[in-house]
Amino acid sequence: MNENNTEQVTQKIGREIFENLHREEPHFWEAQWWERQTIEWLMNDADTKSRILRFIDVFPALRSDKAVAKHLGEYLPEKTDRLPPGLLVGKAVMESALYTPKAVAAATSLATRKIAGRFIAGSTLDETGEAVKTILARGTGYTLDLLGEATLSDKEADIYASRYIELVKHLAASRGDGDQRVNVSLKLSSLTPRFDPASPEDACSEAIRRIKPILKTAMATNASVNIDMEHFDIRDLTLKVFYTLLKDNDLEGWDGLGIVAQAYLADARESLEETLDMIEQSGRHVTVRLVKGAYWDREVVVSDQRGWPVPVHTVKANTDVAYENLSRMLIERSDIVTSAIASHNIRSIAKAIAISREVGAPQERFEVQMLYGMGDPIKKALVEMGIRVREYAPFGETIPGMAYLVRRMLENSSNESFLRRSFVEEAPPEIMLEDPAVKAKSRARPADQNKEVAEIFVNEPEPSFHKTKTRLAIDEAIERAPKTFGQRYNLLIDGNRIDTKELFASTNPSAPSQLIGEICKASKADAGKAIDSAAKAFGHWSRLGAARRREILSRAADIIRTRKFELAALQMFEVGKTRREAIGDVDEAIDHIEFYSRVGVELAEKKETQKLLGETNLGTYRPRGAGAIISPWNFPLAILAGMTTGALSAGNTVVIKPASNSAVTGALFVDILSEAGVPPGVVNFLPGPGEEIGQALVQNRKTSFVMFTGSWGVGASIMEKAAMNTGQRNGFTKVIAEMGGKNAIIIDESADLDEAVAGVVSSAFGFGGQKCSACSRVIVLKEVYNSFIARLVPAVESLIVDSPLYPQTSFGPLVDFAAKRKSESYIATGKEEAETLFIGDVKKSEGHFVGPAIFGDVPPLSKIATEEIFGPVLSLIRANSVSHAITIANSALYALTCGIYSRTPSSVQKFINQVEAGNVYVNRKITGAIVGRQPFGGFKHSGPGSAKAGSPELVKELMIPQSITENIVRHGFSPDLDS
Ligand code: NAD
Repeated sequence: MNENNTEQVTQKIGREIFENLHREEPHFWEAQWWERQTIEWLMNDADTKSRILRFIDVFPALRSDKAVAKHLGEYLPEKTDRLPPGLLVGKAVMESALYTPKAVAAATSLATRKIAGRFIAGSTLDETGEAVKTILARGTGYTLDLLGEATLSDKEADIYASRYIELVKHLAASRGDGDQRVNVSLKLSSLTPRFDPASPEDACSEAIRRIKPILKTAMATNASVNIDMEHFDIRDLTLKVFYTLLKDNDLEGWDGLGIVAQAYLADARESLEETLDMIEQSGRHVTVRLVKGAYWDREVVVSDQRGWPVPVHTVKANTDVAYENLSRMLIERSDIVTSAIASHNIRSIAKAIAISREVGAPQERFEVQMLYGMGDPIKKALVEMGIRVREYAPFGETIPGMAYLVRRMLENSSNESFLRRSFVEEAPPEIMLEDPAVKAKSRARPADQNKEVAEIFVNEPEPSFHKTKTRLAIDEAIERAPKTFGQRYNLLIDGNRIDTKELFASTNPSAPSQLIGEICKASKADAGKAIDSAAKAFGHWSRLGAARRREILSRAADIIRTRKFELAALQMFEVGKTRREAIGDVDEAIDHIEFYSRVGVELAEKKETQKLLGETNLGTYRPRGAGAIISPWNFPLAILAGMTTGALSAGNTVVIKPASNSAVTGALFVDILSEAGVPPGVVNFLPGPGEEIGQALVQNRKTSFVMFTGSWGVGASIMEKAAMNTGQRNGFTKVIAEMGGKNAIIIDESADLDEAVAGVVSSAFGFGGQKCSACSRVIVLKEVYNSFIARLVPAVESLIVDSPLYPQTSFGPLVDFAAKRKSESYIATGKEEAETLFIGDVKKSEGHFVGPAIFGDVPPLSKIATEEIFGPVLSLIRANSVSHAITIANSALYALTCGIYSRTPSSVQKFINQVEAGNVYVNRKITGAIVGRQPFGGFKHSGPGSAKAGSPELVKELMIPQSITENIVRHGFSPDLDS
């Protein structure tokens, strides 16, 4: 049959479905009434829709009647009669004389639970059993999905897996004669807290370890288990698990396994081809559910934030076309698969039915799947036409279920939703049955829309660990890295490499006996020579012009880009970063260089300050001269490259004093600058002890500026010494200093704990807490203190502290023995000052490893709550209110980063207005600032608060602003009047 015939049959079947729809007005006790109402409410203006969804999202977290009433008032302050009835009653009660928080809460609770009840099949096994009976009585089958919170710990993963076993057993036991097979659907990310594409082998084996008992229970009870698809970056990992299970001999003879294909993905065809091949090779029979995809918003947002190509079709009609093509691919292989066409779109369903008739697919190898509580008239019509229908029914408690609910509501009420257009807007069948290919063509994007303009700064994309290529590249770089170890690295002064008698070693903190490199140790005399060399090179470099400087620096960024994995692998050995952190550091270095070199060009232009007749007024910036760059070890490339190229792009010349623990990375960076064409003398390299070499540079009279990033103690002493260094040519030494932090995250009672716990764990323990932005205090409101701990502690217990070379490691060693001793001593202090909640034990024969530690009920002014530890030690502080929490957060001497997890608009606003921190975050982690996006730097003891890294201000601070005024009137003649 050709496509024309298929189209005719599709139209015929589509019309038949439409004719069979039972269009009588539903009653309010019917699911359909609620569904329709919900869509109508959500078709309010975008703002009201977002407020309703946000309120429904936070509602389950609210623990008191007062809190419910307060949030209802905050989210829906204006009078509107277009609200779900319960919310409307809640609002009316609030505005009436009957107002009590209890009455408002009761009305609101009723409404929210009513809505939830329409989409969620029950919260207990018994309720679910009842829902299953109702579904079966409708003549449809079911698949049950157990809703859950995000899995943050092994403990939660174990509980989740055992609940599935219980579910399968319960359903099997209560299955009546002639009932369909028990069918459940599950998500692999719920089966391990480490379902991480960067570590596919371990993630896969952990998921398999927990799914196998579920599958064996299913096998024993002749049930089916479908593996659901989630977001794109774990798609291939999910398939890897599925392929492994296909080959598993223990599951021999069982045909109950299922998998999903998502048509909205641009590479869906290749992926489905591979899946079908694998199924064929296995000789098994499998159900493949074809969906359009439920994570569209997330995919678009995440790819935008991470700089990845958008993995999904951005035109809805293109997804619809892909869906039809994939339906054919799938149904044509009915010899090995059962096709489950999961859609509410009558056109898509009709086309799939047409194809199944055309290819003669056996009836039992074809079914339509639809969500519980949605599109019931379509289900009924299909059943009457003899088509097998299955309902996808989530069950579970309302709290974890809300995220699901919000997603479903969003989907139903989107402009492109079939249900909205068909049932609420009542678009005619001929429109709804239109071939999507027509629209797909006419709405294609103009080809040049994605073209990048080279002049615009674009952040380096995040590493795409879901791609095999990326994983192989870093693995190979790690393997190659040791071949370069043990070399000697010289000083570089005026373009000459200088060997010294005295050397110091850079070693591997995971295995301190492994030498990374031997570094020449500069003397005070060398410091003088290096500054002389930079001062001499200044004239040429500053006159070279910003555009030419940018060319050279961009070349350096390119070299780093091509050597990205090599430079990242080096950091894994030299300072113990995990692969994700190490690549992140190299990416940030590239961003800094590209960003500052553009800013340099911009600042070099003279700009008119004010238009005036007879006078020109221009503003410009001039470089300062020769300066010292004194860098820390913890971002060995990013901070060093940022400070150096910020200075160079301005036209300054520099002497680099790298941190001793990361001196090899420093040496490689200096080589890269030379290779890129930075002339001799412009960058000098002077490794050595800070107290000696750093100090000599700061006190040299030719040093025009010092850029320092490091601890407060050292920074403060540099500022003091520089202030006394007044005899030099420029009058004084300008200091730019970025220093330490004692950063806090506030958790209030409305916080989403899934997000809050994950954000705290990542902010506090990423790189073992060795980031200036790391979270070291969590200030938790008393209402949620215990529930927060109950999830945080097992999540931290599940972290893996090991060699950073293993892909699964959460964090590696601390940088040196002194750092290890310092953290251990704070842990000892913590035991005395507070309640010990958890202290991780790391069993390693060598290396500077320290396990994570959490202390509870920490007094806000105790040592562990006020001093910078720079290790994996976290203090939990209890607060009475958001205001109290902000006061505690602000009591630190530092003011670098601070965050809040809250879904209460007034609390978020209060926090933003009152918090003392340079970088303020709401509902996300507090580390990982991105160049240009989140200019980074603090005040109080964290820095002078002016030159934020990753902002144009940094380059400005490295320059001297100049204002040029010229009187252009000559004997009464003004050229600007003449033109
Ligand atoms: P550090 O202060 O010990 O050393 C920083 C640099 O200063 C090193 O190169 C060191 O050799 C040099 N130095 C030491 N004594 C000196 C002296 N007397 N005169 C001149 N230079 C001297 O810091 P670190 O251990 O390398 O890094 C960790 C610290 O850096 C933490 O406090 C952290 O919060 C801070 N840090 C801040 C930022 C930020 O942007 N605010 C970023 C990263 C790290």
